[in-house]
Parts: sequence; C-alpha cells; structure tokens
Amino acid sequence: MTTILIAGGSLGGLLAANMLLRDGHDVQLLEKARGSLDGRGAGIVTHQALLDGLKRAGVTIDDSLGVQVQSRVLLDREGGSALQLPLPQILTSWSRLYNLLIEAFPAERYHQGVSVSRVEQDAEGVRVHSDSGQVFEGALLVASDGIRSAVRNQYAPEIEPQYAGYIAWRGVCDEAVLSNHCLDSVFDQFGFCLPAGEQLIGYPVAGNNNSTTRGRRRYNFVWYRPAEEMLALPALLTDADGVSHPLGIAPHKVSWRHVADMRVAARELLAPQFAEMIEKTAQPFFQPIYDLVSQRLAFERVGLMGDAAFVARPHVGMGVTKAAEDAVALSDCLRLHGVTPAALQAYEAARLLPGQAVIQHARRLGAYMQSQIAGGAAAGRDAEQVVRQTAVYFPEQ
Ligand SMILES: Cc1cc2nc3c(=O)[nH]c(=O)nc-3n(C[C@H](O)[C@H](O)[C@H](O)COP(=O)(O)OP(=O)(O)OC[C@H]3O[C@@H](n4cnc5c(N)ncnc54)[C@H](O)[C@@H]3O)c2cc1C
Repeated sequence: MTTILIAGGSLGGLLAANMLLRDGHDVQLLEKARGSLDGRGAGIVTHQALLDGLKRAGVTIDDSLGVQVQSRVLLDREGGSALQLPLPQILTSWSRLYNLLIEAFPAERYHQGVSVSRVEQDAEGVRVHSDSGQVFEGALLVASDGIRSAVRNQYAPEIEPQYAGYIAWRGVCDEAVLSNHCLDSVFDQFGFCLPAGEQLIGYPVAGNNNSTTRGRRRYNFVWYRPAEEMLALPALLTDADGVSHPLGIAPHKVSWRHVADMRVAARELLAPQFAEMIEKTAQPFFQPIYDLVSQRLAFERVGLMGDAAFVARPHVGMGVTKAAEDAVALSDCLRLHGVTPAALQAYEAARLLPGQAVIQHARRLGAYMQSQIAGGAAAGRDAEQVVRQTAVYFPEQ
C-alpha cells in the first residue's frame, strides 16, 4: 500500500496533493466541505518561495497571477503620506490560487464531504475514518486540515490556538466606486495606517473574473483592532440573531451592528482614504488572530502541515507560502525516504524550526500595536519598521 491520504483540500492540501501526484504517488484528498471553497478568502501576498511551490505543483505562473505594486505608503490620520518606500511585490487572492490548484488536481481524487474524525495506524498503514462512517486506507496521512485540525487534536491535544488579543477586520472594495483622491494617493500601493494601538494594511488585488485591468480591480484591507477575550470577542462572534459562533463567524453572519460600529471607528481613526474604502465595502468581516505552535509534526505515519502545524499572525503574510514550503519539504523527504514514517521524521526535522521562527517574527510585528496599547513603543521608528517588515518574506532559519 503506497497511497498517500491528505486531509484538507484548501491551499495547503492542494499544494501537497499536486506536488505528490506529480512525483508519481497515488494521492487521495479528503475535504470536509462540499462544493467549491471559492469566494471565502481575500488577498494573499506572494513571495518567491510560493511561486516556486506553485510551479512544482504544476501551476503555470504568468502575469495573470496578480497585481504588481511598486511601493509602500504610510498614511497619517489626515490622509497625507507620512512615509513612502519602494518595494515591488505581487499581490494575488485566495480564490485565484485555489482555482489554479484545484484545476491542476484530478477531480476523482478530491473527495468532498469527507470530515476526518479518527485515525488508526499500525506497521502496515493508516486507516482514516470519516464522520459519516467511510474508511480510507493508505501508507501515510498528511493532515492539512487547518488551525482546528481534528488529526492534530487526536495526536497532540495539548496544542491549541492561543488568542493574540486582537481581531482583523477584512474586506475588498471595488476600484470603480472609489474617489480619485483615494485612487491617486493609495490604490496602486501597499498602504498602511497606524492609529495608536491598531494597524491597517491594504493592497490592490484582481477584481471579478480575475481582472487586473485598471478600474476593475479591488483593494483588499486588513484592519487589526484589539478585542478583549472574555466579553468583547464573544460579543463580536455573536450574530444579529443572538447565536454565538465561538470557533469563527462566517462573513455573512457578522452582525450589522458590529459592522456599523466599525465603520464609525474607521471615520474617527483612519486616514480618510481607508475610511472611504471601508464605507464602500459591501460585506466586511473579521477573524480573531491566533498563534498556533506545534512541538511535533510527525506521528509515525501521520504528518501535520500548513495551518494544522503552525499558524503565524497574518502580519508576516506567510500562511500560504509556509504551506508551500511544507509541501516542498514533504515531497523532498518522500523522494529521499520513500512512502515511509522515516520520510515524515525527516520532514519534521526540516520544518519544525522554520515554523517556530515564523511565529516569533509575526509576534514581534504584532507586538508593535500591543506595546502601544500598553503605552510603550517609540512610535516613529517602530512605525517605519512595521512598514518595512510587514508581509516581507521571512527566510527560513
Ligand atoms: C476559506 C478560507 C479562506 C482563507 N482566506 C485567506 C486569505 O484571504 N488570506 C490568507 O492569507 N489566508 C487565508 N486562508 C488561510 C490560508 O488558506 C492558509 O494559511 C493556507 O491555506 C494554509 O493552510 P491549510 O491549507 O493548511 O489550512 P486551511 O486553509 O485552514 O484549510 C483547511 C482545510 O481543511 C478542511 N478540513 C477541516 N477539518 C477537516 C476534517 N476534519 N476533515 C477533512 N477536511 C477538513 C477545511 O474545510 C479546509 O478546506 C484561508 C483559509 C480558508 C479555509
């Protein structure tokens, strides 16, 4: 038995599945959700390591991948440019990557509606059980089932996401509805606004039908705001009908009252260009920010990758890139050691320290707003560091 099972068919699972399939393995991918995951994500910062991973996964990279920016700009409360620096980068979207990767993977190997609930393993292989009673057999299981990974929970239940003390409001605004002032002063750049104790970043992404044509693009924003854990966060995670969503609230369930409050705060705290974008974004949503740090990635025939293994705060813009690096390391180790537990041991040795280092780097970037909340930070110099270091590739250690 040499089948490799992969739990989780988001970007991490699809990157690994495509690479391993191209390496000649029999790969079967088990995804909990039914239907397309498309439409649920927003902007993604690309790094060379992600482009390398996509190529290895069989994806053709060309100019249609995303929108290129040349520089970064920090806007002050009045909307003036407080800092500008050159930094070319390509910004794409979650949907774009998802579509490229799912098109590259044979549909008959992508099993939808399979929620992995339990794993058994012995010297011969793994047996993966789903909620609905299906059983899949293979030589190895790669778990890319996200921050709440059921597989990690079985093997390392002590590892849990740690709430960072703040949330990120997110959304995408159509270029076509924005004022000329907004378009001219920020749209073509990676933008920042740093009110005391908060951070907003934003950048242009492709619009409908993946269009990167001027006038049809969108601006993706991420606004980090403190939300105290015991009262403020549960209130935000409660929808307009009073139903609580403690593990994360779907965009369409976010209460209109919270959206309205957030828009008021945007007008009070942010550069007018960003307040305008937020006002004109149809469905802003938010996600609580967590750290997740694993101490082990290999459990005999079961390996963890992507967000199931590590989740760094999004300041580093590394979620998908790190998943691509995990997939490349996995593919390398399987080439070297065959479809064996030894390959997963080698994979763990290669990926444990880089994963932990990215978490530390993201914490340092997040600490800027937290130290401000606590009254620390030499704002001028640290603001420049935030603009310089946010979403810049953090090399492996
Ligand atoms: C819908 C969605 C939107 C996202 N949008 C963005 C974004 O805009 N920007 C950004 O930087 N990052 C985004 N991310 C995170 C980014 O995709 C991840 O950092 C990256 O893909 C690496 O994580 P992953 O693929 O390992 O895990 P995830 O992306 O979290 O995917 C986990 C997958 O596993 C599936 N799953 C969960 N439990 C089970 C189970 N028991 N059995 C089988 N399958 C299971 C989930 O349905 C999901 O498809 C998004 C993730 C998701 C799922």
